[in-house]
Amino acid sequence: MKKNYLMTPGPTPVPPDVLLEMAKPIIHHRTPQYQAIFKKVNEGLKTVFKTTNDICVFTSSGTGAMEASVANLLSPGDKAIVVQGGKFGERFGELCKAYGIEFIPIDVEWGKAVDPSEVKKALDKNKGVSAVYTTLSETSTGTVNDIKSIGAIVKDYDAALVVDAISGLGADDLQTDAWGVDMALSGSQKGLMIPPGLAFTAVSKKAWKKAEVSKLSKYYFSLKKYKKALEENDTPFTSAVSLFVGLQKSLEIILNEGLDNVLARHSKMAKAAREGVRALGLAIYSSSPSNAVTPVNVPAGIDGELLVKTMRDKYGVTVAGGQSELKGRIFRIAHLGFMENFDCIVAMSALEIVLTEMGYKLEPGRGVGAAEKIILEIPHR
Ligand SMILES: *Cc1c(COP(=O)(O)O)cnc(C)c1O
Repeated sequence: MKKNYLMTPGPTPVPPDVLLEMAKPIIHHRTPQYQAIFKKVNEGLKTVFKTTNDICVFTSSGTGAMEASVANLLSPGDKAIVVQGGKFGERFGELCKAYGIEFIPIDVEWGKAVDPSEVKKALDKNKGVSAVYTTLSETSTGTVNDIKSIGAIVKDYDAALVVDAISGLGADDLQTDAWGVDMALSGSQKGLMIPPGLAFTAVSKKAWKKAEVSKLSKYYFSLKKYKKALEENDTPFTSAVSLFVGLQKSLEIILNEGLDNVLARHSKMAKAAREGVRALGLAIYSSSPSNAVTPVNVPAGIDGELLVKTMRDKYGVTVAGGQSELKGRIFRIAHLGFMENFDCIVAMSALEIVLTEMGYKLEPGRGVGAAEKIILEIPHR
């Protein structure tokens, strides 16, 4: 027998109550019953995004919201700034390229947060930039960026600030309105604790103004269509009914715990994970680690891909490996969504066991003990 533990930064585990809700018979999406759910979900999302702005929901994975943020804010000939410090930051650059948009890259060393003053420099140097693309939690490197400071800079320019909070939402603080985020993006299979399939974006007045005049081609991801439908508690195309029903439940769970408590839980798990791996003599890859996922350097002499594979296939503990140039060089332990302290203990224990089997010298229980110390130190909420 093998019990499986999903500890990746998306998809994340789905709470049983949410799964049960989603197993109920399907209802039609253009009915008062569904519209009540739709409305409740939209209100709940606003609370989690900390916004009063409209939230448009696409039936797509998170990247759909990223695509929408390019297709709807820009017109041919517009300029954009793209903060690239990992695979997902680079995705914005790829999207700009796909839409024929010339972009100014800010290339941040992987594992480091962008220095907000670099954004200011780029805005001053390149007049008439229409949008700045950034990432809250860069999942590929486990790095959180200082969106608050970036927002304070961008608000004085005509550019719209786009933040990919796909893995960050619900783990690292995001104050969409207070920080001046014009398009905050997220996806369903991360902190929101439901399966993959929905993408979200909170759209500010500044962003709507740009969307009104944007001339890039779009159809399915046209924000204007979603705004019009939203006025009638509706979506322009068939809603992903089961996912919405699940989301209603997961938002209820999140809001019952309280958003601040949810964030505190993530911060505590992240700390426990970091202290645990450090106690094993391992180093954290990022100098600005996020609360969603802990990136760990693979120690010398250990095959990083085999480590992840063995944890998963032999012991049922699925953590993430490194992506792109980090393949085999780091592994990533997620503590995102439906996870709590003891999930970190499971990850730490499996890590100790597999590292030992692979010939890495460690004292069994060291990592677990260090994580437990954090669990004891920080009051349980
Ligand atoms: C998961 C993720 C995405 C989107 O991935 P999809 O596979 O399209 O859902 C984008 N950005 C970040 C930071 C992510 O963590």
